[in-house]
Amino acid sequence: MAPPLRLTFEKSATRVRDLDDHGPEVAFIGRSNVGKSSLINALANQRQLARVSNTPGRTQLINVFSHAGGGAVVDLPGYGFAKVPGRVRRDWPAMIEGYLLEREPLVMVFVLVDGEIGPTSLDQQVLDWLRDAEVPHTVVATKSDKVKSAKRQRRRRDLAEGCMLDPGDIVWVSAAKGIGIERVRDLVLMHLAD
Ligand code: GDP
Repeated sequence: MAPPLRLTFEKSATRVRDLDDHGPEVAFIGRSNVGKSSLINALANQRQLARVSNTPGRTQLINVFSHAGGGAVVDLPGYGFAKVPGRVRRDWPAMIEGYLLEREPLVMVFVLVDGEIGPTSLDQQVLDWLRDAEVPHTVVATKSDKVKSAKRQRRRRDLAEGCMLDPGDIVWVSAAKGIGIERVRDLVLMHLAD
């Protein structure tokens, strides 16, 4: 059983060059409201940890949490606030692109997709972009508790298909019910130990 990740808020940054060097990094990204803060809090078993990322003024920053065992977890700004479909760039500041493309210690990006409704077209564009740029990424489907068990198999298939992946490639989690959290902890630890 993977214990909670020992994360401490380190800093918020607007530029890649302001980030420190502390070994491998994993990053979390997703549409606003996808459940990113809830997941990061669940990974660390700290209720308020990622709240810092959701405070006014910090939502558009790169928020860094250092990991006691080495490396760091990075909370990237949520995309898609504006209700304009098909406009990733508008909601995808150059800063995030720069981080994803240039950040040397970055070993894995966890892309959060809403398990009940995702992937949205914006999620699909982000996934396309990551694939084209050859940025290593793993899709995590959130809020699995919202999918009724009778629909679960179908939903898993549809979500995977929408992401152009196999159902087995996707990690399903529920921060609310504590489902799949240990699996994500294991993956994070594995990548931070790289
Ligand atoms: P963020 O904007 O991506 O950081 O999303 P939050 O973590 O703030 O969550 C957005 C909303 O989704 C909040 O109302 C959460 O309570 C809810 N939420 C997050 N995770 C879950 C989950 O696993 N299950 C359910 N049912 N709701 C969740």
